[in-house]
Amino acid sequence: MKKSILYSIPMLKCPRCRTGDLFPKLVISKPLDMHESCKICHQKFVLETGFYWGAMFISYSISAFTLFGMLALFLLVLKWSFNAAFIIGVIILFIFYLYIVRISRSVWIHFFVKYDPLMINNQSR
Ligand SMILES: [Zn+2]
Repeated sequence: MKKSILYSIPMLKCPRCRTGDLFPKLVISKPLDMHESCKICHQKFVLETGFYWGAMFISYSISAFTLFGMLALFLLVLKWSFNAAFIIGVIILFIFYLYIVRISRSVWIHFFVKYDPLMINNQSR
C-alpha cells in the first residue's frame, strides 16, 4: 500500500518505508530523542553529525507561520486585543512546541531520504 508523504511527515514516520516510527513515545525529559534507525527498514535517521541543524530553520518557519496565523485569527476574526491575541498565541505555540520540533525533523529527513516501499520486505541492508 502506498503511503502519502502527507501522512508520513505529520505522523513522524520513517521517510523510506513510511511505516516505522522516527521517534519513541514522547518523554518530556528527552523530547528530541530519536530512534537511531528504522525498526522496519533499518534506514539510519542521523545521516551525518549535526544533520538536524537545518531542521531548526524549519521549526522556526513553522512557529512563525503558526503564530501569525493564530494572530490573524484572533485579531481579525475574534476581534481580540493585540496583547491578548499575542499572549494566547505564544502559549498555544509553547504547548505544541515539542511537536513542532519533531515535525521539523520529520520534514528535514524527508528532504534527504527517498520513499522506497520495497524496503519493507527487504531488510537485508
Ligand atoms: Zn523505515
